[in-house]
Amino acid sequence: MDVQNAKQMMAYVADKMVASEPVLTKFDQAIGDGDHGIGMERGFKAVQELLADESFAPADVSKLLLKIGTTMMSTMGGASGAIFGTLFRSGAKAIKGANELNTQVLSEFLAAGLQGVYERGGAAPGDKTMIDALVAAVKESESRQGELSEHLPAIAAAAQAGVEATKDMIATTGKAKTLGERSLGHPDPGAMSMAFILQFMCEFATEQVAA
Ligand code: ADP
Ligand code: MG
Repeated sequence: MDVQNAKQMMAYVADKMVASEPVLTKFDQAIGDGDHGIGMERGFKAVQELLADESFAPADVSKLLLKIGTTMMSTMGGASGAIFGTLFRSGAKAIKGANELNTQVLSEFLAAGLQGVYERGGAAPGDKTMIDALVAAVKESESRQGELSEHLPAIAAAAQAGVEATKDMIATTGKAKTLGERSLGHPDPGAMSMAFILQFMCEFATEQVAA
């Protein structure tokens, strides 16, 4: 997938994330302070504006994803603004000069993004955060090569399995921490956002091939 296509894919992801506000809000109301959907909506609305601007013509995939991360970080606020902004920025820096977004590049992006999130937020797998979806996606993507349309279904499904696993975890970080065992049974909203982003990438990549 070239830069132009990747830009279109991220515009599709932004539209779908904005539309996901109600479901993300509902799940953050269950275990957090209820603002996760609004934060994501604000960040991805800013991304929509960025990508609709024809004067934004990133030279490569790295620059595209870096600017998306900066935009999210500067507009979202909250823990997730820093966390998702860091995911995109750290991931983008690891794929400098990439002209193609293929499975290997996506895998490198996700792995470096995960590293950035670890360093920024200090949470670990099992803490009931977006990390639980991201780690699952990174593991599934490792050693895969080729077209995104071929591999994203499995990567997105792994992230969703990571979301399901957060239902059995007790939050030890972020706002859900104060709930303790009462967070059991509910999925983590940030993990859900992480899986949604990959799911929407998958939809775009596979439908584009089918078209
Ligand atoms: P806030 O916690 O400031 O209200 P949001 O509600 O927007 O922010 O986002 C909460 C989500 O952020 C959580 O569901 C979790 O997935 C993620 N999160 C919070 N803290 C961390 C962290 N230290 N590392 C990774 N993800 C985190
Ligand atoms: Mg919140």
